[in-house]
Amino acid sequence: MVRFTVLASGSKGNSTVVTGRRTRILVDAGLSCRELFRRMKLAGEEPETLDAIVVTHEHQDHINGLAVIARRLGIPVYFTEATHRAWMRWLTPRRQMSYAQWLEQCQRQAAERQAETQSAAEESEPDDPEPEPVAEVTIPESAAVAPPSIKDEPTWLPAVEYFQAGQPFAIGDIDVSPFTIPHDAADPVGFVFVAEGVRMAFATDLGYVTPNVKAQLQGVDLLLLESNHDLEMLRDGPYPWSVKQRVLSRVGHLSNEAAAGFLANEYDGQAAYVILAHLSENNNLPELARVAAERALAGRASLLANRLLVAAQHEPLSAIYF
Ligand SMILES: [Zn+2]
Ligand SMILES: [Zn+2]
Repeated sequence: MVRFTVLASGSKGNSTVVTGRRTRILVDAGLSCRELFRRMKLAGEEPETLDAIVVTHEHQDHINGLAVIARRLGIPVYFTEATHRAWMRWLTPRRQMSYAQWLEQCQRQAAERQAETQSAAEESEPDDPEPEPVAEVTIPESAAVAPPSIKDEPTWLPAVEYFQAGQPFAIGDIDVSPFTIPHDAADPVGFVFVAEGVRMAFATDLGYVTPNVKAQLQGVDLLLLESNHDLEMLRDGPYPWSVKQRVLSRVGHLSNEAAAGFLANEYDGQAAYVILAHLSENNNLPELARVAAERALAGRASLLANRLLVAAQHEPLSAIYF
């Protein structure tokens, strides 16, 4: 049995569970561990049975609980390498320094590296093809204090797996196809998940629907699509001009109008479910998003095809079964 459960969707946190026969994947970890577990139980999902976390991009509403959740469950996190790096930078507090201080630090680090290389070269046997791993280090008793564990690092994760947009991979019995989306993050992706032959597309946080995204969203049984803002509400709303510009840009978020445009003109109408997602709490209303999409789907929405659902920020959507 295949199940798709949106636990939270919106700029305050995103998480969805995709469940195949044997495998359960958490898509994004934007809720705190506590809240995630609470909502999973509410939605009839067992947090302890999650097998992996996949991350779309490093914005806070997608990774807020990532480290704590992954550690608590001891499960791997799948990122693109650029997203992993961006996430690590986000977690590592940055010290303000002047250019002179930065230069001095670079020189000091270079000198340290050189000294290390030199002493390593002096220590190693010239004919030794591979240096012995430094496994046994005798620590004098006076210094036998536990060294700081790598697990204390804020960026430590039980396991990290890299994927690349355009290169499908599998987690257990779920096939995952990541695709690039236009958004102002390091290397943002959407996904098509395939479990037991059921295709589920996941596309939020995109400035517009690129030709490749259009192609990815065809022939799916479930389509989760961003319907972020109502254009008028955003224009007249409380955000500063610069933020409005960012949201509206080609690397911002998909409006109700843009989502409806895709549904009306480019979508093949094949999905059993269409879920509108990542609605802005300030610049949208669920009814506005729903009406725009309903109009776009025109006569194509029914109990059997294109059932329209709107994902919410503060409560999980009932699980969808296939
Ligand atoms: Zn987001
Ligand atoms: Zn984002």
